[in-house]
Amino acid sequence: MRRLSVTTGDYYNSVAKTQIMLSPSKITAWLECEHYLTLKLKDEAQNRKKGDKTTKITKELASGIVEPPEDFADMLRKKGDLHEQLCLKDYQAKYPGSVFEVPERNEAEYESFSLWIDRIGNPMEGSYSVIFQMPFIHDGIRGVADFLVQTEYEDGQTVYEPVDSKLSRTGAKQGHLLQLLFYAEAIEAKTGILPRQVHVLLGSGETESFNVRNYWWYWKRLKGQVKKAMDPNTAKETDPVKCSHCGFCEFHYTHCRPQWEREDSLVFLSGARKAHRDSLAEVGIETITSLASLTSADIDTLNSTFPPSLEEDFSIAKANWSAKSGKEFRSVLADWHSQGMIIPEIEDDQLFKLWRQARLQSIAEHANKVHAYFFGQEEMEEKALDREGWKKDQCILYLPEMSDHDIYLDFEGHPFWSIEEGLIFLFGFIEKEDGEWKYVAYWAHDKAEEKRQAGAIIDYFFEKFQKYPQMRIYHYNHTERSLLADITQEADSMSSILAILGSAFQNSPPELERLERLEDQGVFVDLLAVARNSMQTGFRSFSLKEMEKLAGFFRGQDRNLPSTGFQDDDPSESGSIERGAGAVFEYELYSNAELYGIPKDEKRLGRIARYNRDDVVATRDLHEWLLKERKRQDKLPNETLTPSIDHEGYDLSETQIERERLQAIIIDEIKERRNAL
Ligand code: SF4
Repeated sequence: MRRLSVTTGDYYNSVAKTQIMLSPSKITAWLECEHYLTLKLKDEAQNRKKGDKTTKITKELASGIVEPPEDFADMLRKKGDLHEQLCLKDYQAKYPGSVFEVPERNEAEYESFSLWIDRIGNPMEGSYSVIFQMPFIHDGIRGVADFLVQTEYEDGQTVYEPVDSKLSRTGAKQGHLLQLLFYAEAIEAKTGILPRQVHVLLGSGETESFNVRNYWWYWKRLKGQVKKAMDPNTAKETDPVKCSHCGFCEFHYTHCRPQWEREDSLVFLSGARKAHRDSLAEVGIETITSLASLTSADIDTLNSTFPPSLEEDFSIAKANWSAKSGKEFRSVLADWHSQGMIIPEIEDDQLFKLWRQARLQSIAEHANKVHAYFFGQEEMEEKALDREGWKKDQCILYLPEMSDHDIYLDFEGHPFWSIEEGLIFLFGFIEKEDGEWKYVAYWAHDKAEEKRQAGAIIDYFFEKFQKYPQMRIYHYNHTERSLLADITQEADSMSSILAILGSAFQNSPPELERLERLEDQGVFVDLLAVARNSMQTGFRSFSLKEMEKLAGFFRGQDRNLPSTGFQDDDPSESGSIERGAGAVFEYELYSNAELYGIPKDEKRLGRIARYNRDDVVATRDLHEWLLKERKRQDKLPNETLTPSIDHEGYDLSETQIERERLQAIIIDEIKERRNAL
């Protein structure tokens, strides 16, 4: 298959004599993705960069007002700059009159980086305790160190050690360390002394220090590799390879995603992990269409027939594909044939599943029909055995019927509400009251309120569960949330709704215990896990925004939805927040309105509430649809099954719940008697 690869050499040759400097941040980007470096350098060389978004907010802060961020990425940049400014203030308080702020580069008059360095000279020759924003050019690399802090060693040597401020709260990343090692090397070049330590000022307020000698070899080796990657004579081709950085990458929507679309890339194949994609690509199967076109005549293990009911639509998809491309459908397997028709190294079951997924997606794309394929009962029961505890119930076989006491829950959180801490600012749910659905929102605009509201919501759930043990709390874990978790590097604590609720009670054992009891009793049901363990669809992912369409839920359409309680309840407005990250951005503008010099607009909360309400209503509709499908599918039972597996801990938790119930009765009786006296 022909690829649209580019090499760093291409742009080097095409932009004659343009001097391009490596920077530590580019090295960091290269660590994440080689293709990023290629695109970034090409972009710079062609001077297509629109405006300088890295401009620090120093001047803005001096004026007292910061320009509102343009988008989510801009918001993160500003948060990083704010953190840096706070660190600067701390140093100024600690070393009054001894913090040197390097004059800014005169970009308005096109001052080059090297002229800037010439102009400022070497402030390390002075006696400042701290130097802020020190630029370096060394060994073909340039960068600006946040802080250099004067340090005196036991042997009397005085040296500046580099310190960078980073938003991360859980620890410095590999790239942060590399940046600092570059500054250490540049300091040695200027002063003749290699700093012994480098430091990161984390968003949590902690400082993480590293001994330079321990990482020196690593820095030298990586520097050599990245220089090689930039050399037109040695640069290799780079392709976009999906990674955790893609979600935030500036080239995602402009370059890589369109390329993957053009190439019909396997990155869009739902359920395919990188190892699967690599195994398929290795034998010449690099597109969704080529995987879909395999038949049992090609690979024996594909002996289970594709659902006959879908064959007709697959034929339509093949015909449409051929008409559009002007090629024979089977021609897409040319690479696989030419490479010897080797069977990819993927377990049979998994290969079969991926193949079926490729066909479902091909039908969706070329025949415009999205089908849902449910696994058989036996297959689901077998898979349940691999899961632990209450997670064994997470499939459609054991999905409870709806009850009048059920709750559909979702929350909205801001991972960088402040530099030090995130905030869950909205817990929203729907439940029935007098037979009618109502939307309930618990808002929290600071940490104390967050804890109070989280406690109140758990108390409410716990008491309701005691009254109505059939009650379940349904939620749909979001991919957007995982995306946010990537930024904060707090994947474990931000990726599941239970973990998020739990995190609100870290210092509050009673609520945490109640939450755990509800969890042990299987009260929380994650419909994303249920869907994933039960079915495949023609969608590229299990995102709620896709899955809700199966249930007939379409956002922004005039429907009889429970009110959010906000005025101007225009249903189409929730469309302005397309993703969870959009809700974060909206809340940022609300909660930090003063900083940005904008009105504290309640309409922003209204938009967030509508978005949240739509999510919980969609979750309910999906639950209803799954139950209907379970009845409709011949291969599935008509009613909720009870898992035949022993659930460790269930008996114990039930005893606990019973004990709690009896305690409540006794306490009530004592209260009644006291009142009667
Ligand atoms: S979108 Fe992903 S693959 Fe493309 S350059 Fe960015 S990180 Fe690399």
